Amino acid sequence: MLPTDSALVLFSGGQDSTTCLAWALKHYARVETIGFDYGQRHAVELTVRPDVIARLRAQHPEWDAKLGEDHMIDLSLISEISQTAMTHDIAIETQANGLPNTFVPGRNLLFMTVAATVAYRRGLTVLVGGMCETDFSGYPDCRDDTMKALQVALNLGMDTRIKLETPLMWRDKRQTWELAQELGGQPLVDLIREGTHTCYLGERGALHDWGYGCGTCPACELRARGYRQFVGGAV
Ligand code: ZN
Repeated sequence: MLPTDSALVLFSGGQDSTTCLAWALKHYARVETIGFDYGQRHAVELTVRPDVIARLRAQHPEWDAKLGEDHMIDLSLISEISQTAMTHDIAIETQANGLPNTFVPGRNLLFMTVAATVAYRRGLTVLVGGMCETDFSGYPDCRDDTMKALQVALNLGMDTRIKLETPLMWRDKRQTWELAQELGGQPLVDLIREGTHTCYLGERGALHDWGYGCGTCPACELRARGYRQFVGGAV
């Protein structure tokens, strides 16, 4: 068990951040959520957020009691100052520097910094994010070292002792599904499968066995592969 404390979870409405929210609700006495509208093409994830929160509350009365305010922050300036496939209608491809053009430079740094500002005001001492470097698209701001360096920088800059927790950092997608099962059993797995959104293109037509999405973008491919490994491994 982690020390009883309070946490602010970066919650987008996707698979990873929903699993992180469940993880935080299991470990901390008081939990709040924060979401960012940055002009993402898959803004549908923002619309599923309230439903995911409502279903989590309904499934787990003990989590309902711990879950506090949800903070929605407008960070539309990100799409104004950057040009990426995440925020603009351009094809997903690999750039000359080897990074996919879905990488939004500075995004996670900004998210964590804004979250720290909100945590400071709300008296919350832990920030929880779904960053992961095990099974990722090579985004440098998802790296463990980036998060650790940022934790140091934020605490120096604000004279605080805020901790950045990234429970998915060393888990692949299959293990993320396994963690969900560990935390909330089949009802949580089903909630994540049906209720969350991960697809980069915001596609939400048909429900696949792994959830909604186009099935072909990098985020869908990762999610689908992880789910199939999870189901296959569980048999
Ligand atoms: Zn997709």
